[in-house]
Amino acid sequence: SYRKGGYHAVRIGDSFASGRFIAQRKLGWGQFSTVWLAYDTQTSKYVALKIQKSAPEFVQAALHEIEILSAIVENDPKNEKCVVQLVDHFKHRGPNGQHSCMVLEFLGDSILHLIRYNRYKGLNLIKVREICRCILTGLDYLHRELGIIHTDLKPENILLLSTINPSKDPIRSRPTPILERSEASLKGEVAVNAIEKKLKQRAKRAVAKIAAERRGAIGAVAKPDRCLDGIDFRCKIVDLGNACWANKPIAEEIQTRQYRAPEVILQSGYSFPVDMWSFACTAFELATGEMMFAPKPGQGFSEDEDHLALMMELLGKIPRKIAIGGLRSKDYFDRHGDLKRIRRLKYSSISRLLVDKFKFQETDAREFAEFLNPIFDFAPDKRPTAQQCLRHPWLHQAAAKTVA
Ligand code: ADP
Ligand code: MG
Repeated sequence: SYRKGGYHAVRIGDSFASGRFIAQRKLGWGQFSTVWLAYDTQTSKYVALKIQKSAPEFVQAALHEIEILSAIVENDPKNEKCVVQLVDHFKHRGPNGQHSCMVLEFLGDSILHLIRYNRYKGLNLIKVREICRCILTGLDYLHRELGIIHTDLKPENILLLSTINPSKDPIRSRPTPILERSEASLKGEVAVNAIEKKLKQRAKRAVAKIAAERRGAIGAVAKPDRCLDGIDFRCKIVDLGNACWANKPIAEEIQTRQYRAPEVILQSGYSFPVDMWSFACTAFELATGEMMFAPKPGQGFSEDEDHLALMMELLGKIPRKIAIGGLRSKDYFDRHGDLKRIRRLKYSSISRLLVDKFKFQETDAREFAEFLNPIFDFAPDKRPTAQQCLRHPWLHQAAAKTVA
């Protein structure tokens, strides 16, 4: 992808926007861009520099993302709405063409990393609540104040706040003697941010412990998410690359598969409630370490059909009117509202699953399910809004109650 129209190759120490931003290390990448930790020489702060591929369709997409990000930052002067903030944007000419660049506030690891570091065991419910409150604050802002649908909410797109500067000694610019050294040694010099470091050390210890346990060296392992104690769990919604104004929806097929709402599969029109569906899937995943729905195609049925079947097994039957009401309904349902190709469903419920499979205490399971179930309404307009969810008692329960 590092060719004409593709990614811009960045070397550590490269400068952008007439020398204002200096690349420090790579933070990540997506289909459209690479993202770099950069030092802002004007403010002496670290930022995330998102450098878009240069082909016209990517430039177009970046313009759209910048429009959305600008609305987000303009209406949140106090930076309290839990959505990533745009610092600046500019164009950068390189050998592969002209690249749109977005300067974003620098954030930490995604909550997907958090789930991984926790060995896919699910986080303590106190932390799940904290993260849920942040996500809902962000969604309420996007939906109610701005009229924006995110359309790709998932653990990967929720980043923790990075509390500590990555390094007191940023790489200032090229060329300096530093240039002579390899990228690998430079990477080693730039201290990773505190949360990342802490988590990695603890994950390493946890893994060592499991290995020891397997060898029979020690007995019961401590509850895994003790590993994450003492970390402040504030986070922000990122990746507005697929976001749209609710009155101008762009794509028909939105959302990452596992977080996709039923109305998107059925093509019966969508709005803000699709984000609420993805939010509930994300909350479940945080609490259990496993995806709520992980559909797979099978013999004689598609991934979509498996997905709808999984939804019904856990949430109950889709009301006939809704099942047959979408442009694609005929592909999946007969006129009675039964799936054509998957006939026998094994019905369960969220709270039963939490107890049986994930070993939740009865009360915890019931209360968490009471929070989630209304959001998983098959009728999008009956789902609570982010604002309504924020008022739900489950989010405001005394912490002591949930300590096992
Ligand atoms: P794309 O639209 O190309 O998918 P994203 O906005 O999802 O790009 O960013 C790609 C990756 O870069 C993210 O998954 C994350 O790892 C990293 N990243 C993005 N924004 C930030 C940020 N503000 N701070 C730190 N890392 C970020
Ligand atoms: Mg992305």
